[in-house]
Amino acid sequence: MAGSLPLHAYFEGKIVPYSDAHIGVATHGLNYGTAVFGGLRGYWNDEQQKLFVFRPQDHFRRLLNSAKMMCMDIGQTPASLTQITLELLQADNYHRDIYIRPLIYKADEGIGVRLHDLRDELTIFAIPFDRYVKNDTNAHVTVSSWRRVDDNTIPARGKISGAYASSALAKTDANRAGFDEALLLDQAGHVVEGSAMNVFMLRDGVLITPPVTDNILEGITRRSIMELAQNELGLKIVERSIDRSEVFICEEFFMTGTAAQLTAVTKVDFRPIGAGVMGPVTSRLRELFEDAVHARLPSYTHWNVAVP
Ligand code: PMP
Repeated sequence: MAGSLPLHAYFEGKIVPYSDAHIGVATHGLNYGTAVFGGLRGYWNDEQQKLFVFRPQDHFRRLLNSAKMMCMDIGQTPASLTQITLELLQADNYHRDIYIRPLIYKADEGIGVRLHDLRDELTIFAIPFDRYVKNDTNAHVTVSSWRRVDDNTIPARGKISGAYASSALAKTDANRAGFDEALLLDQAGHVVEGSAMNVFMLRDGVLITPPVTDNILEGITRRSIMELAQNELGLKIVERSIDRSEVFICEEFFMTGTAAQLTAVTKVDFRPIGAGVMGPVTSRLRELFEDAVHARLPSYTHWNVAVP
């Protein structure tokens, strides 16, 4: 059920078969969630017979910022992490869409909650990956009773492993209640995210998304969609807080994330959004995004890094 295992991992400074990448059960990051991670996708372009990683430098910049918040230093740069990833993907030699997971963790083994005086390690692995949200053209979501972590509880703009216990609570309760995804409110009661997605609402023809100061993860897909919507569709984009009841009356609503890509939300707590089917803006953005990630949009190929 967890899917297929990686073939290789970058582990303790080199690329090894996945079965050789082990950590002890007393590892700090495993016990206390003192780890930070990223999530990138590689997209296979069949015409060019090439695998393209989407915006790796932006993903690794965010990863290193998450590490900084958690007092971690692995002596890498976005460029060096991109290079390691490309070498790993050469070894894996996937000819299909994949998901890439870099993880930096507090590697010492033993008891004691803190961030300082602990060794930091980096690992990266990749797995075959397709769709993440099952009903990505007609998702039914519920407003979760779990709140999004507050920036003063666990830095929300960091991708910190421990914080995902909260996302997992929201996701499981939503799925068990029959919904495709959870919609999370922050402590102020604003709609801010899915379990691992940013959110967008189309209201009166304006594309609205919560600002980076509303306890969101600063999504790379979010940023890409804002650029595509503005440049290719000429849409006006506003970053402002979103009220719960606005979602009931907006024209379109969708979620964005590396795993979720663009997931159209057509129902929230049994209320249809707009006409109750995926709207034209969401549909057009999905097409544009699909082309962009596969390196088929000439003006955006700076987002695509080919595995040599
Ligand atoms: N919010 C959360 C909490 C996430 O885990 C993710 C997935 N990384 C996102 C938003 C979307 O970010 P991105 O588009 O960079 O994948």
